[in-house]
Amino acid sequence: MAQLAVHCRDLVKTYDTGDQKVMALRGVDLDIHTGRLMMLVGPSGCGKTTLISVIAGILDQDAGLCQVFGEDLLHLRQKERLRFRAENIGFVFQAYNLLPTLTAVENAAIPLIINGFKRPEATRRAAAMLARVGLGERLGSLPAQLSGGQQQRVAIARALVHNPRLIVCDEPTSALDHDTGHKVMELLKTVALDERKALIIVTHDARIFEFADSIAHMDDGHIITLEDRHA
Ligand code: ADP
Ligand code: MG
Repeated sequence: MAQLAVHCRDLVKTYDTGDQKVMALRGVDLDIHTGRLMMLVGPSGCGKTTLISVIAGILDQDAGLCQVFGEDLLHLRQKERLRFRAENIGFVFQAYNLLPTLTAVENAAIPLIINGFKRPEATRRAAAMLARVGLGERLGSLPAQLSGGQQQRVAIARALVHNPRLIVCDEPTSALDHDTGHKVMELLKTVALDERKALIIVTHDARIFEFADSIAHMDDGHIITLEDRHA
């Protein structure tokens, strides 16, 4: 049975840089059900990263409601919010955000360590996930020793390794060639998607639209259309 994974109503977010106010979200409504892969598309600067950051509890909205699996992250205490995020959410950052002094396998193991796994078990699981993204031979490499596409796959492994219920990816195939991009999307669909999970992918990459169950088109802080690919 599909559950509501994400429920946003009238989300508003303004960045105030002192001399300038930028209204990045101007009243976003969005529902995402489990078992679904939703892509979020739209021109640069329209608010995509801001929206998924609010959904993932990385950024607080100014107004409006955002619930993830029924939980309102804005009103959780810091400790509970961190625990909820660590257990339930996997996030692939646009700039990968790998820790430069940790190896690929150490980076990929971070969510497991945070969730209390002992190092040997965390390492074993992280290595298995890196093998699934095609990096089984590069476990001991530092980020600087990996190509952009390889770093992106370490970031994807890190987002999936703890088996989260909500996976949020910001441009996960932007640094990948066509074949690797397809492999990563197939992996995301098989590893990351079952009836209890949901997947949100921000992308410019028309080559991967075929993997979407729905596509939300965003412009100037609004979701302007929601296209159901199975309708
Ligand atoms: P997208 O991911 O669609 O390119 P963003 O959500 O990153 O868009 O940005 C939406 C708007 O908010 C843009 O105008 C951007 O310049 C602005 N913005 C994003 N982050 C910040 C920030 N930290 N401080 C000030 N303005 C920001
Ligand atoms: Mg962005």
